[in-house]
Amino acid sequence: MEFRDLKAQYLKYRNEIDSLTQDVMKSAVFIGGEHVRKLESSLATYVGVNHCITCANGTDALYLVLRAWGIGKGDAVFVPNFTFFASAEVVSMVGATPVFVDVDYFTFNIDAKKLESTIKKTIDEGILSPKLIMPVDLFGLLADYDSIELVAEEYNLKILEDGAQGFGATYKDRRACSFGDAATTSFFPAKPLGCYGDGGAIFTNDDELAGLIRSYKVHGKGEDKYDNIRIGVNSRLDSIQAAILNVKLKALINHELDDVNRVYDSYNELLVEKIEKPIIPECYRSSFAQYTIKLKSQKQREDLQLFLKQNDIPSMIYYKKTMHQQTAYADMNLKDEDFPVSTDLCKRVLSLPMHPYMTKDDIERVAHYVNMFVGKSN
Ligand SMILES: *Cc1c(COP(=O)(O)O)cnc(C)c1O
Repeated sequence: MEFRDLKAQYLKYRNEIDSLTQDVMKSAVFIGGEHVRKLESSLATYVGVNHCITCANGTDALYLVLRAWGIGKGDAVFVPNFTFFASAEVVSMVGATPVFVDVDYFTFNIDAKKLESTIKKTIDEGILSPKLIMPVDLFGLLADYDSIELVAEEYNLKILEDGAQGFGATYKDRRACSFGDAATTSFFPAKPLGCYGDGGAIFTNDDELAGLIRSYKVHGKGEDKYDNIRIGVNSRLDSIQAAILNVKLKALINHELDDVNRVYDSYNELLVEKIEKPIIPECYRSSFAQYTIKLKSQKQREDLQLFLKQNDIPSMIYYKKTMHQQTAYADMNLKDEDFPVSTDLCKRVLSLPMHPYMTKDDIERVAHYVNMFVGKSN
């Protein structure tokens, strides 16, 4: 069994993907071109924003927005303490300081109440200047933007949505990557919309920001690539990846989002009460980058993972460490007690196989072994 079956997806779309990638090779337009333009336009339309700018990966996407906004030394960026390292890393890359905020136990996303108290504390300390909030749509579930937007307004902060895991998710009738002043996503193969290598994108309604990012991503170009008016980077999505993504975006829209939500429904129905299952609040629809359960203790989690492995069922731990526990941030000297929820989650979460191509048999098999294990353990 695969944790995320990318082979099954390729087999289903093989003819279309092979023919389009062959076309790119025959045309020898490897950088830019029609596939990239088409993808940017389809993504912007689907998400419901004016601009989509593709780039080399999801980390670059975040970095480019921070650069374009001029975030740097002395600035505070509020980041959830329970996320993938890149969310905080980019803040440090531009010389600013990530200020970690504990998350909500049920949604795994940034806790809006704790966000406000952390902002207040940062203002009171008077060392850093609060600039922006970076909510993450963890595991495919959108963050609590209604509450976050109120906090942002109150303290005059920008919002940058890290939608790397959330592409395709919705809250009421708004789609992931349409929240905040700008949003980003990643096309890393295992994300809800993945390519066959690395890729990323930035979304915004802000014309000026879009223009700046189009410059920063091409060596700070002015008139063209050979007229350089600022220090930028080289960050682009290549044509082959764009051609593949054009096929995969259709698949995501046509059936994959429904399919992962069907897997979610089946798991919820089959897994016994004793297991803490993911909770999708009302009006939200997840794109299920992960299906993450909580065990009673670290020991029970480790035992279950071993038991599943012995029965050929893959599982993953996202994440074993909070941001403040990472060695790279050890010099901040932050304490576990200040982040009780994220610290606890890191000990007890386990992600089960989840993807649009999961068969009924596979879902039943996973549920059977998980149920059997928790039935035996206390
Ligand atoms: C994957 C991921 C990123 C980074 O994306 P890459 O394409 O791997 O650079 C950023 N933030 C989150 C939350 C992610 O899951």
